[in-house]
Amino acid sequence: MKEKNLKALDLPELEARVSSWGEPAYRAQQIFRWIWKRGETDISRFTDLPRHFRERLIQEGYHVSSLALIEALHSRDGTVKFLFRTASGHEVETVWIPDGHRRTVCVSSQVGCALKCRFCATGLLGFRANLPAHEIVDQVLQASLYMKERATNVVLMGMGEPLLNWEAVRTAMIMMNRDLGLALGARRITLSTVGIPDRVRAFASLNKQFRLAWSLHAAIQEKREKLIPLARTYPLPELLEAFWTYYKAHRRWVTLEYLHLPGFNDRREDVEALRRLVRKLPSKVNVIPFNPSPGLPFRAPEASETLAFVERLRKVLPHPVTYRVPRGRDVFGACGQLALQRPGGSDAH
Ligand code: SF4
Repeated sequence: MKEKNLKALDLPELEARVSSWGEPAYRAQQIFRWIWKRGETDISRFTDLPRHFRERLIQEGYHVSSLALIEALHSRDGTVKFLFRTASGHEVETVWIPDGHRRTVCVSSQVGCALKCRFCATGLLGFRANLPAHEIVDQVLQASLYMKERATNVVLMGMGEPLLNWEAVRTAMIMMNRDLGLALGARRITLSTVGIPDRVRAFASLNKQFRLAWSLHAAIQEKREKLIPLARTYPLPELLEAFWTYYKAHRRWVTLEYLHLPGFNDRREDVEALRRLVRKLPSKVNVIPFNPSPGLPFRAPEASETLAFVERLRKVLPHPVTYRVPRGRDVFGACGQLALQRPGGSDAH
């Protein structure tokens, strides 16, 4: 059956559909602009389309979907965590992170996650569903409409492993990048993955300057396997090779995300292993203090502990080391905390 939700059609599909009706191709651009630039969902208000064309669309059952906002939780630090309901009835979380001139939206690519990383609350949910491309992009649009501000950056770091929903994620990134829509520059869109070699290579082969982050968290294979079950399938040397293809294709550094788990991955041997790995892959290290969540077996480091660890890394690593200040912890909106939880302990279900 033909897709009747205009939001689910990327520009080339809209163009094909429009030309099959004998309408000029620019009608597709007009529709795309109404949906993604202006956030309009009522086809009768697409006022630069001829009336007969709008009526035809409505008569034939065309419509424009929208994620339904269930709630927006405001953190004391300005971060906002959104809970949306998808068309298929699932709940999904999105985080708005203001920082100086930046307005970053952390979007989910799946509902829940199958990978069950031991430091991540999303993994405790298990896998529930893949999100279609337009519902990944719509998180950015709906968050921006609610905040009455444009998003400047997008990170695919919310619920789910983006490379396990690759087709939809690829389309979503391309849609976000379109000038007629959200017009987010490719360099302002970052995909974060634990690493699936053939998909990392597929990402590297895109003819766009999207950024890539690797959720590394341990540079010693045995330790990484304890944190990320999928690491048993894809050992570090194989992953290094895949991430290298990204560097080779784009001459852009990979960001290595390194969760600080005090006493587990901050020992001398960990620093040494990280130093060896960084020498093989042009990359910067971003240290993230572990964010606590019910049911996870690690303790959150004191800020002073993480800063001391960052200083140790800076002394030995040849490339930059940054420290990510935790944001939105009080609304369970920080990294690794997205599990449909609400402050006060109630679950979204
Ligand atoms: S860290 Fe990412 S891949 Fe691992 S369980 Fe959480 S959402 Fe899934």
